[in-house]
Amino acid sequence: MAPSESEVAHVDLDTLSRASHRCLTAAARTVTTPPVMDRVECIVVGAGVVGLAIARRLAMAGVEVIVLEAENQIGTHTSSRNSEVIHAGIYYQKDSLKARLSVAGKHALYEFCASHGVPHRRAGKLIVAGTTAEEAVLEDIRGRAAANGVGDLKPIGGDEVRALEPEIHATAALVSPSTGIIDSHALMLAYQGEAEDHGAMIAFDAPLRRAEATRAGFELWVGAGTEETRIGVDMLVNAAGLHAQNVGRAIVGLDPATVPAQFFCKGNYFSLLGRQPFSRLIYPVPRGAGLGVHVTVDLEGRNRFGPDQEWVDGIDYDVDPARAEVFYEAVRRYWPALADGALQPAYAGIRPKVQKPGGHNEDFIVQDEAVHGVSGLINLYGIESPGLTASLTLADLVAAKLGVWFRAR
Ligand SMILES: Cc1cc2nc3c(=O)[nH]c(=O)nc-3n(C[C@H](O)[C@H](O)[C@H](O)COP(=O)(O)OP(=O)(O)OC[C@H]3O[C@@H](n4cnc5c(N)ncnc54)[C@H](O)[C@@H]3O)c2cc1C
Repeated sequence: MAPSESEVAHVDLDTLSRASHRCLTAAARTVTTPPVMDRVECIVVGAGVVGLAIARRLAMAGVEVIVLEAENQIGTHTSSRNSEVIHAGIYYQKDSLKARLSVAGKHALYEFCASHGVPHRRAGKLIVAGTTAEEAVLEDIRGRAAANGVGDLKPIGGDEVRALEPEIHATAALVSPSTGIIDSHALMLAYQGEAEDHGAMIAFDAPLRRAEATRAGFELWVGAGTEETRIGVDMLVNAAGLHAQNVGRAIVGLDPATVPAQFFCKGNYFSLLGRQPFSRLIYPVPRGAGLGVHVTVDLEGRNRFGPDQEWVDGIDYDVDPARAEVFYEAVRRYWPALADGALQPAYAGIRPKVQKPGGHNEDFIVQDEAVHGVSGLINLYGIESPGLTASLTLADLVAAKLGVWFRAR
């Protein structure tokens, strides 16, 4: 039998207050009387870095927001399984969302980190060439970066590379001074904290199962197992990362033809045993769909290598130790002194791609009513790199598409 209106409201209150309690406890906050939430203004699906940035942005503009998160904590998927690099915005297609949102997002992120105490460092990056052909590619990269408004790339010769990073073998390089590294978990906590300070709540263990576009907004069915809750909402933002297409297909009233195809491209990382020789990020000239097996440095100075590209059918974060062989070969192109046995499997992340293996690199997809015809609905698809860098500007874009204009930072 279908529940009565009062039963539905009761279930909503119960589940969401427990969820918000968990969230507030996790953030070491004091729980006050749980609010009644049978209808909310906005639901954001996904508490990754993008969903949290959007929730913060909307909450600071005065919108009542609940974030639904399927897992029991924030950022357990792509947002905690990446290189933690603040990208300069060098490689992307001119005028693409990736180019515009990463270049503006980088500046916004540095400002945000400084004002909110998020650990980060402008570590700088070298893009290294080892052959004349690769040197020519460096020139192309510099041109593309300049077209994107990244005018600070500095070409240097092999001697200067050795002066900066003595163990790197390169005939030439580009230095990117505005590339940096960030503690992505601290960033997410800062977004979460500020969102909650402005009244947003995060409901954990709260997967969105189904939604229906109605005349008055949306009806959502939320929860795992038998614990299902129905919520009414005016605005719905799908920031479900690797599951964004599943969420899109679960919205009754959204034309499934607007949901793009989805492909997963795993990126594996290996850490380095022993001495950590590098203090900057070091990237080879890119080949294929990724940026090449590069050296990343974390805020503790640890060096790691990756990510590579492994097209996969499902979500599995195990790193196959056998892939080390390819890493040794790729890394030794620019660091010949890498010793046998020095690489250890570390972790993996999965890129939510909208192009198939071998396809042309696609842009971020941020769909609004103009694209899919459903008022109050924003779908984000293919939010791979540089989604962390662009999290604040993606949030601004979503707010603008929802007509929420008050600017916050
Ligand atoms: C290998 C790799 C390296 C990268 N390196 C960088 C980098 O150095 N710099 C950079 O800028 N970017 C980088 N990125 C990209 C960046 O990590 C992502 O763009 C960003 O983390 C995406 O965040 P998100 O919030 O969209 O997704 P996610 O972090 O995946 O969050 C989505 C959330 O939605 C939840 N969810 C899913 N379905 C549901 C549902 N039905 N109901 C409720 N919740 C649901 C999930 O549990 C998850 O928590 C990298 C990505 C990868 C894979």
